Amino acid sequence: MRTTVGIIGAGPAGLLLARLLHNAGIDSVVLEARDRAYVEHRQRAGILEQGTVDVLRAAGAGERMDREGLRHDGIELRYDRKRHRVDFPALTGGRSVMVYAQTEVCKDLIALQLKEGGPLLFEAEALAVEGADSDRPTVRFRHEGREDVLECDYVVGCDGFWGVARKAVPEELVRVFERTYPFGWLGILADVPPSHDELVYARHDRGFALLSMRSPSVSRLYLQVPEGADAESWSDDEIWDELERRFETEDGWALERGPITQKSVTPMRSYVHEPMRHGRLFLAGDAAHIVPPTGAKGLNLAVGDVVTFARALTHQRDTGSAELLDAYSETCLRRVWQAERFSYDMTTLLHRSPDATPFEDRLQIARLERIATSAAAETDLAEGYTGFPFQ
Ligand SMILES: Cc1cc2nc3c(=O)[nH]c(=O)nc-3n(C[C@H](O)[C@H](O)[C@H](O)COP(=O)(O)OP(=O)(O)OC[C@H]3O[C@@H](n4cnc5c(N)ncnc54)[C@H](O)[C@@H]3O)c2cc1C
Repeated sequence: MRTTVGIIGAGPAGLLLARLLHNAGIDSVVLEARDRAYVEHRQRAGILEQGTVDVLRAAGAGERMDREGLRHDGIELRYDRKRHRVDFPALTGGRSVMVYAQTEVCKDLIALQLKEGGPLLFEAEALAVEGADSDRPTVRFRHEGREDVLECDYVVGCDGFWGVARKAVPEELVRVFERTYPFGWLGILADVPPSHDELVYARHDRGFALLSMRSPSVSRLYLQVPEGADAESWSDDEIWDELERRFETEDGWALERGPITQKSVTPMRSYVHEPMRHGRLFLAGDAAHIVPPTGAKGLNLAVGDVVTFARALTHQRDTGSAELLDAYSETCLRRVWQAERFSYDMTTLLHRSPDATPFEDRLQIARLERIATSAAAETDLAEGYTGFPFQ
């Protein structure tokens, strides 16, 4: 098999990249290790930044999102049983976010790809990228029990944190920046209308909690739990009791309970792999960087990377100049590090470390009070949350 761009992974990064290239008249082949049902049902992110919404619309993948997604103009911060709303449009000149699950983004992009795009092979596992620094990189992969080779002009590794693409960058050229956190998130899906119409981020002495949603009838809620905790060790009643405690307010706000349909624990990690390019291999999305989910940035960063790559490749085809492709890693990393900073700030603002001292507790409250009382501090949060511009 031969193609211009070999894309490894059909998560949001790989699928959107295939769509952007198709729209630009550039052919690609997508290899995805898992089956279609798995990719379409893997519960992950749910908040789309304004820039992501704009890109999906422009790519012709925004129709159902605009019909079923929920536009959100703010979030609520909770601490010391108090509530503070952050009004995004008022603070950012009209920007907002969209609640539309990653599962739905993937379903929409898969449907478009299968209808109009190039080959998308499920259960096709990439084994290795070879010749990344040559003119003819290849992806060795296994599909339907046979090994095959995809010859490419360019390979884009969109294969997530556990993928193989990153391994093709020689170790001596790589710098990894990493931090793991001594806690994780216990996430649940519940068949109950969200108890609040916007996301609620709660800082509590017992730990962080987040109220989010997938639709007007499905709630998504999270609890900070110790690192390595087992979701099954929490009964449904224990989860609701703990959520109730952490969301409690002085004005008697009530949390609606409902049947829990899914629960799992997500570890929290910050990770950046530099550079994001080696020869004709480009890394995009979680293959190159991870953020803790507190800032809702993971999926949006993946979108930023593939927009940058598609633009750079189109520029090269149209002008013959490789300057944007050459600048890919630096261009992406500027945005990545802003998102890393924002996600780290949100995480340390709202989570309670197991070894937190009373001094650090007071500092957290002071930082939250600052956001609640200073337009400058609040604007900084609103700008970060609604997203840094694509470059
Ligand atoms: C449990 C969990 C919860 C999350 N919650 C949030 C959240 O609430 N908010 C938020 O913003 N972000 C969240 N994230 C992060 C967000 O989901 C990711 O940033 C986003 O999925 C990145 O997209 P991607 O396409 O780069 O990678 P992925 O979505 O990981 O896609 C990579 C794809 O590559 C495939 N693949 C891997 N190896 C190979 C191979 N060798 N050959 C072929 N295919 C391969 C995988 O099967 C997968 O389909 C969460 C992540 C996890 C893991």
